Amino acid sequence: MPLRLITIDLDDTLWPSRPPLEAAERALYRWLQVCAVRLTERHDMASLREHRLALREARPDLAHDITGLRRVSLEQLLSEAGYPETLAQRAMEVFLEHRNRVSPYADASPVLRVLAERFRLISVTNGNADVERTRLSGHFHHALRAEQVGAAKPDPALFTAALAVAHAMPREALHLGDDPLLDVEAARRVGMHAVWMNRNATTWPAQLAPPEAEVADMYAFSHWLDDTQA
Ligand SMILES: [Mg+2]
Repeated sequence: MPLRLITIDLDDTLWPSRPPLEAAERALYRWLQVCAVRLTERHDMASLREHRLALREARPDLAHDITGLRRVSLEQLLSEAGYPETLAQRAMEVFLEHRNRVSPYADASPVLRVLAERFRLISVTNGNADVERTRLSGHFHHALRAEQVGAAKPDPALFTAALAVAHAMPREALHLGDDPLLDVEAARRVGMHAVWMNRNATTWPAQLAPPEAEVADMYAFSHWLDDTQA
């Protein structure tokens, strides 16, 4: 059965996730130091994070929605510091603008451009990057985030939503991602093909069945596809 749909994870598959996240947290904190100074007198970046993690424990309904989690955390802290909760929305705009300033790996754009001519490409992410606001804008036919489907990987919701958008059967679809459990194992449980993006030469976890294929970058993925789809 030839492939029709390729779903692709974003963070650490197409760009390193840590630098833009850390930059966004710093930009948000600088903004709070100007616009909500009483909050930053009570909290540093570490205690903001602790508040968010505690909120995640208390609000499992927000576990899949990391943007919502961050916003509700800010609403609570702003309110405690005597600011209107609505300031949290503006704070989130600052955060997300910096969050989307990702630096894609050099292999991402050229390979996605070629793949998009042969397959339906849908990005599927647990994160809050909006791919259309990044330098990979225009490369995907469709983009899905966990907060839109109400559940994060390894829940099948992102994959079943992508299959529905592409009108594809699971066996006509392949997922590419860097996380053994959230990407590879989760996708093959749905019945999709799954390829592991292993950019840092890490070891596959022994408790999981080995992946169908492992690649170190998008060029290797493209070559693997050419071999298997020939
Ligand atoms: Mg990832």
